[in-house]
Amino acid sequence: MTEPTVTAPRRMPLHTKMLIGFVVGTTAGIAANLLVGEAAWLEGLIAYVTDPIGQLFLRLLFMLVMPLVFSALVLGVVEIGDPRALGRIGIKTLLWVLAVTAIAVTIGLVLVNLLQPGTGLPPEVGQELLAASSDRAVEIASARQGVSGVDILLNIVPRNPVQAAANGDLIAVMFFALMFGVAATVIRSDGTRSFVDAVQGVYDICLKLIGWVIALAPYAVAALLFSITAKLGIDVLLQLARFVGTVLAALAIHFFVVFPLLLRLFGGMGPLTFLRGAEPALLTAFSTSSSSATLPTTLKVTVDNLGVPSRVARFVCTLGATANMNGTALFEGITVLFLAQFFGVELSLVQQVMILVLCILGSVGAAGVPGGSLPVIAMILAMFGIPPEGIGLILGVDRLLDMCRTVVNVGGDMAGSVVIGRSEAKAEVLQEAA
Ligand code: ASP
Repeated sequence: MTEPTVTAPRRMPLHTKMLIGFVVGTTAGIAANLLVGEAAWLEGLIAYVTDPIGQLFLRLLFMLVMPLVFSALVLGVVEIGDPRALGRIGIKTLLWVLAVTAIAVTIGLVLVNLLQPGTGLPPEVGQELLAASSDRAVEIASARQGVSGVDILLNIVPRNPVQAAANGDLIAVMFFALMFGVAATVIRSDGTRSFVDAVQGVYDICLKLIGWVIALAPYAVAALLFSITAKLGIDVLLQLARFVGTVLAALAIHFFVVFPLLLRLFGGMGPLTFLRGAEPALLTAFSTSSSSATLPTTLKVTVDNLGVPSRVARFVCTLGATANMNGTALFEGITVLFLAQFFGVELSLVQQVMILVLCILGSVGAAGVPGGSLPVIAMILAMFGIPPEGIGLILGVDRLLDMCRTVVNVGGDMAGSVVIGRSEAKAEVLQEAA
């Protein structure tokens, strides 16, 4: 007689579910766009079903961002404890951000000069797009006011941390949290110890909530992608295909060539291992277009799947979610030059180098939300005499590009965590041996 075999029901892994959500949402969206186009019921479906589902998911994630960022950074600093170690990780993170972002912008600027995507657009298409997006363009152009290069730096220090949190000003909140963490590390009284315990509680609760929210991700991914593909269709994409192609090619070079090289050389990790582990965060980034909304997933997979010590991941990923945006920096560079080409504004090499520096700073200053870099681009355009309204040209295709550059942004945070995590492990071994 054979033993009865007990087969436990096997649960489908979350990333497989997300992939299914992705394929279902995109296919249905494109099919709906091609077959029924602008039918009223499709607009109703998007407005009352798929958009709200997607928005609900985004809101749930955003709801957790502030408490998570504050608690993760305070704990990150306290856990590192030794101010020397904190300084070390901080300097490594800064170096990573500056070096890898500079590489990203350079790739973008070289490609846009080689391919000249802005010179090929028929002027009437441009005018049509400008007219269609003029309202939003004006809104974005006005948002740039009061944001100069010096302001980007000054705004790192909040006048009022509560207001900064209420305004979603993550960089300022991060600065405040870092200062808090440093002071809590230095004092070490009973009071600060119980404060740190409480912060640990906040962090644990956030993680639990994130687990619940992330379980909804596959449905949200399907809904978000359906809305986008059903609305965008392929017409607008075709009109701006050269611009899109240039951005995507540059992003691909950065993601598939630069990251694997850096991971191999400094992180001791193969690209496939990285991609497999990072997939849930990359897909979340792709479907939400927001590094901040992806942060919870980024943190989780960086620790669980990529094996980065949580104290390093917390620090690098949390800071990286707004400060380390390789894809955004690259996109800013290409967009500024594309619009300069489109409007016939000649830029000298020196001006292009200035744009490179501004794009690095601009990517630090951009918020990790969908379209977060657009106000920064408008600011750079105005500085070089390129009409900021030109932003209207790219709005139609921005969502797709936003999705892709956010993947590169989040990928950069995880790759940085792997590299810094490994070098920290080496530093600790050396310290113990000494
Ligand atoms: N959506 C991007 C992010 O959250 C920011 C941007 O480039 O607009 O990473």
